[in-house]
Amino acid sequence: MPIEQGKKEINDVLTQPNWDFGRLLWAARNRATQEFKLGPPLPPNAAFGLNACQTHYGITTAGLSQELAAWILSIMLAEYTAGLLAEKVEDGHCQLHRVKPDFKPCLDMANEHMRMLRLFKERLRDLVKEIEKLEQGTQVPQSPAQP
Ligand SMILES: [Zn+2]
Repeated sequence: MPIEQGKKEINDVLTQPNWDFGRLLWAARNRATQEFKLGPPLPPNAAFGLNACQTHYGITTAGLSQELAAWILSIMLAEYTAGLLAEKVEDGHCQLHRVKPDFKPCLDMANEHMRMLRLFKERLRDLVKEIEKLEQGTQVPQSPAQP
């Protein structure tokens, strides 16, 4: 379901003439309200952070905090890419061969779109492996900040 949701949310922006990045950020803001638990015990519209540290991440008057904007946009764009490529596999999308009146799928381009979907998936898998290494290799400092 997230792939269908991300595909629609991004498609609604990218297929408009003269689309602007602000609309993507607005879509990300809306997704954040669904994806994260906002508010108490944190301040309203905060999804992460610690009250004792007065440091929070969430929806601000200026939009999303940069960490969450990048997080949500990267997920939504990945969902969109996977969903769009899969749709083109099933449609046999082709500029030359899938034409009126019958719109028969082009098997060659169906296979090419499948190759693209597979490579995209492998790239995401590589990214997840890299994130896992980053997580394992990143240390929480042992000495506390000054009070
Ligand atoms: Zn073709």
